[in-house]
Amino acid sequence: NSFSDVDLGDILFANIKHAKYTKPTPVQKSALPIISKGRDLMACAQTGSGKTAAFLFPIISGILLDGCPEQPSTSYRVGVPRPAQPRALVLAPTRELAQQIYDEANKFSYASPVSSVVIYGGADVSHQIGELEKGVDILVATTGRLVDLLDRGRVSLSKVKYLVLDEADRMLDMGFEPQIRAILGDYDMPGNRDRQTLMFSATFPKQIQALATDFLNNYIYLKV
Ligand code: AMP
Repeated sequence: NSFSDVDLGDILFANIKHAKYTKPTPVQKSALPIISKGRDLMACAQTGSGKTAAFLFPIISGILLDGCPEQPSTSYRVGVPRPAQPRALVLAPTRELAQQIYDEANKFSYASPVSSVVIYGGADVSHQIGELEKGVDILVATTGRLVDLLDRGRVSLSKVKYLVLDEADRMLDMGFEPQIRAILGDYDMPGNRDRQTLMFSATFPKQIQALATDFLNNYIYLKV
């Protein structure tokens, strides 16, 4: 019943302590060992349950274990930047949620080489492109802006090892299923056996079950 039950590494452990998270919430207690073992997960969890930390902690610790965080992109030809190659992609339904996840990612990767970037619509795209060019390990995105930047060649998904669909039911309610399916199928995202996929949703209707069946690999279902 403590964060030290799972080996998250010293840096993350210090940041958890600094944030005064004294013990894991129920979803964290159940999900952390599953995610840390590398299993795919479909979790029914509400906002406020602590689900963000449940997926961010093992991702941050996994990226630190893998080493060599993403370096700033250098041009191979003048004026042609290499696309950003995040190792973790978190899809969220709204800019507010994306910003919250990004803030939490920054807080818990403090004093580590892990870098995060958030991209969403309705905000200056050239600023977001500038942030991507500095290098990104964890990319938090809303679906429309991500598709836009994939089409512009600013992001490559080829290095994605961790994929999170957060508040999946809300993304479907907002009509983003075509964008989700495009991001997962039409670009250079590794197949579901070559990445770890984590899906969070407050509800588990047929449409969400179909998404889980299509994109997760031998997943564990968790209801808290
Ligand atoms: P979330 O469900 O991820 O949006 O988290 C809800 C709120 O709970 C956020 O403000 C978190 O910072 C906070 N929180 C998450 N996990 C813990 C924890 N283990 N101890 C204390 N607060 C937490």
